[in-house]
Formats: sequence, C-alpha cells, structure tokens
Amino acid sequence: MSPMTHPLNPQFNQGTRLKEDQKGHKPYRGRFAPSPTGALHLGSLTTALGSWLDARAHDGRWLVRIEDVDTPRTAPGADQLILEQLKAYGLEWDEEPTWQSKRTSVYQKGLDQLITKDLIYGCQCSRKQIEDVLHQAGISMSPNQELIYPGTCREQHLSFENHALRMRLPENCVIDFVDQGLGKQSQDLNHQVGDFVLRRADGLFTYQLAVVVDDQAQGVTHVVRGADLLSNTARQIHLQCALGYETPHYLHLPLVTNTAGEKLSKQTQAAAIEMHSREIILATLNRAAHYLGIADTTLAHQTSVAQWLGVATERWKDRLAKGWVAKVTC
Ligand code: GLU
Repeated sequence: MSPMTHPLNPQFNQGTRLKEDQKGHKPYRGRFAPSPTGALHLGSLTTALGSWLDARAHDGRWLVRIEDVDTPRTAPGADQLILEQLKAYGLEWDEEPTWQSKRTSVYQKGLDQLITKDLIYGCQCSRKQIEDVLHQAGISMSPNQELIYPGTCREQHLSFENHALRMRLPENCVIDFVDQGLGKQSQDLNHQVGDFVLRRADGLFTYQLAVVVDDQAQGVTHVVRGADLLSNTARQIHLQCALGYETPHYLHLPLVTNTAGEKLSKQTQAAAIEMHSREIILATLNRAAHYLGIADTTLAHQTSVAQWLGVATERWKDRLAKGWVAKVTC
C-alpha cells in the first residue's frame, strides 16, 4: 500500500488535507483532553501548554474536553480542579468545556454506524484467555503491554449484550500517517494491535471510540497531545475512515519523565502543580517550556503570566516558521 492511503477509504490522503489547511480553508481547532483522574502535574501541564501554544500560534481556537468516559477511574472534583489550574496558568479556553460522561448517546450512534457496516462483533475473552492463546502461539507479552487480540471470537456471532464489542479489522490494515513533530509513522494494526474494543463488557465506551467521535463533533483540526498516545493514533485514523470522518493533523509532544525515567502520572505519584503564587506559576511554566524545547522564556521578575504566554507564543511561532513541520511531506 502506498503511504497515506487507507484500506477502507482509498481517497484518504493527509497530504491533500494539509494543503487545504495551509490555504486557510479550515480554521484551526485544537483541544486539550485531560482524563480527570487527579490534578494536573508537570507532565499534563506541559501537554496543555503545548496544545494551547500551537492553537494560539495558528490564531486558532482551543477547547477543553474532560475525558471522563471511564467513570470508575474518575476522581471526584478532579475536573473542576483541572479547570481551575488551567485558568491560574492563563490557559483559557474558547468554548464551554465538554464532559464525555454526558455524551454516551453520541458514542452509541457512532457504534451503531459501525454495526450497520458489519464491522463490530461481541467478544467474551478474558485477559487471561487472550494471554494463553498468545502464549500458545509463542508470542510473549510484558505484564503491562496491551495484548494483541488474536481474533478468537471473530466468527462466534456472540450477542452484543454483556460482551465487549470489538472492531473487525480488514486484512492488510497498515496505517501510515505523518506526525508533525516525529515525521512518518506506520502501524500494522492486525499484527501490532488486533481487533480492538469499542465498548467494554460493562457497557462503557472506550477512549478510542469516544475520542474519535468527539474530535469529529468538535471540528478538531489539530490533535496535540503526549507521545504516550502515539500508538493509539493508527487505531483512531482507522476508525475515522470507517466512520467517514476527516483525519486531523497530529503532533505528539515529548513526555516529562521522573528521575527513574518513568512518565509523570498519578501512578508515579507526580505532584500537582501549584497555583498560589505568580512566581511559582512562572517557574513551572518555564519548566514546561523547557520540556517542549522552546527557546529561553525567562523574563524579568515582574512578568505577568499573560506576558509570559505572549512571549512563549512568539517562540512557538518562530519554531513553526523554522520548519518544525518540515518533516511533513505532501
Ligand atoms: N485523556 C487522555 C489523557 O489524559 C488524552 C487523550 C487525547 O488527547 O487524545 O491522557
């Protein structure tokens, strides 16, 4: 398959999309989509700052979406705290924030569309059963690795009730795309992921479906997020094609790690960013900017957060002008 094509949609071509955008046909719409499992820490602030700067540098709009689709993992009050932290750091959004937990009927519609196309099947495999099948096939997986689904339930015609619902992949499902920072990417979905879950057995919609439906519904043209999500992008592009949606641009940002080299997260006990003094906020913004690789943003002691963000936006523009997206070939 030639680069930039898609098995379900031969017209899929990110290059065409990019040219249209550069002519200004599609106004930039970006988003920050935190999962409210806890307060923002330096890692999530860095992602928020990167996506905000990219939107501002493109004179675009920036949206905030609370990704609380996995309700059992949601920490009570974390959504409001995140919004408060973003405000304190000057990262103001342009439209009312949205909550995924209020949008399940929209995700069901997306799923129904795929069911109509016969792209969905029920699956009753437990993690242990999948591991056993993989083990028998001589495929070893590390404990936290996402399992490549071997397709056990594909032809079983199980009911959709009380079962996980998986997306049936076509043969040779290799997805090629260009990340605006990391360059050309390619993932063979059959061999690296397998048929993936869109609704869990407990009835909750998965991140993959919710994020694709929401990015489309909100007219998102640019997805700027942490590099830990890079391996999800091919699945999302595949879903967009299956649902007849357009594919946004992708930019995956560097991750902030602790001294042990682990990504900062709630699991690695990352500390919440503080928001009670301007000095601390500016110092934290400077640290985030350092991780994003933008040139020195240290300003005089009396700088306001808004001034700092103005300077950082200019630095981001410089970087775009110097060809940060030069790796995009179209
Ligand atoms: N909710 C995801 C997270 O907090 C981000 C998803 C995305 O940006 O696509 O890591």
